[in-house]
Amino acid sequence: MTKNATALKTLLSSPKKIVITTHRGPDGDAIGSSLGLLHLLTQLGHSVQVITPNEYAKFLHWLPGNDNVITYEGNEALADKITAEAELIFLLDFSHLSRITTYADAIKNSNATKVMIDHHQDPDRDIADIIFSDTTACSTAQMVFEVMEAMEMTSYLNKDIAESLYVGIMTDTGSFKYASTTTKTHHVVAELINAGAENAKIHDLIYDNSSATRIQLLGYCLNEKLRLYPDNNAAIISLTAEELERFEFKKGDTEGFVNYALGIEGIKFAVFIAEKDGMVKLSLRSKGNFKVNGIANKYFKGGGHMNASGGISEVSVGETIKKVEQIINKYKTELNKTN
Ligand code: 5GP
Ligand code: MN
Repeated sequence: MTKNATALKTLLSSPKKIVITTHRGPDGDAIGSSLGLLHLLTQLGHSVQVITPNEYAKFLHWLPGNDNVITYEGNEALADKITAEAELIFLLDFSHLSRITTYADAIKNSNATKVMIDHHQDPDRDIADIIFSDTTACSTAQMVFEVMEAMEMTSYLNKDIAESLYVGIMTDTGSFKYASTTTKTHHVVAELINAGAENAKIHDLIYDNSSATRIQLLGYCLNEKLRLYPDNNAAIISLTAEELERFEFKKGDTEGFVNYALGIEGIKFAVFIAEKDGMVKLSLRSKGNFKVNGIANKYFKGGGHMNASGGISEVSVGETIKKVEQIINKYKTELNKTN
């Protein structure tokens, strides 16, 4: 067993008050890995609370254990109290406290032992005592499974853990199609299906359960809001708050939209820009060796993975489009390389 797994197994050998948290704007991997871990820890006799910085998409609310989750925003006093009393805190699917925004102070001030399980670049080693970091892992959910294996705890695998981790792996691999998907991923997924994860049902609940207005918003984006820069193999889709409002936007509705732009022949760099919660948020995606995490970090206070990153912009949607156009121009040589 690795040193980290041994240390964690020892920590888990007596009942503890535990908090699990994950990044702001939790996605399928953030929630799936958190709930998968929750279902392991409760079987081990711990008292566990999942706290997310803010609310997340409805299509994740069916997940087993969703009722256990509280959002920090709107429940600050309760969440601060639970966090202060926790003996062990898991930080899942993020590597810097900036990703949990308003919840960061409570985590910083806590005396709990902290355990990070994450697949993002450059983890901040000062924020956790035990760090499981694997930037090659397709998802944090797969890492949670691997940590279970390392602690020799796969006998605890049940349907609830399996369905939660399946959601994390499926969503972070684009349904097993990204390059991060390995034979290990498929082996893990086979174990999850064996343990009761209903794969077809899960796909349906996540991907084929949209409101009509979401599909109409997608149509609007593709028909009217797609800007193509064929000379530089790039594309931008943008939406203002007013446009989102017009299509009755709900959290999670624009997830995956950026991939349509990236799916166009020749496009290597796709950017989705949307004005949400009084902020302009960007999703950057790329193919091949064009790295978007550096761009997200340098220009948009963000980060992420080589081919999938995000960040924010402090100017209007229109100004943000101009900024992205300048970036496309600046990187035109790289965007025109044949890889
Ligand atoms: P999305 O475009 O789906 O919001 O995010 C894609 C990936 O980019 C996430 O999995 C995460 O790794 C990263 N990411 C998104 N937003 C931010 C951000 O504001 N800051 C940082 N550091 N990373 C982000
Ligand atoms: Mn992830």
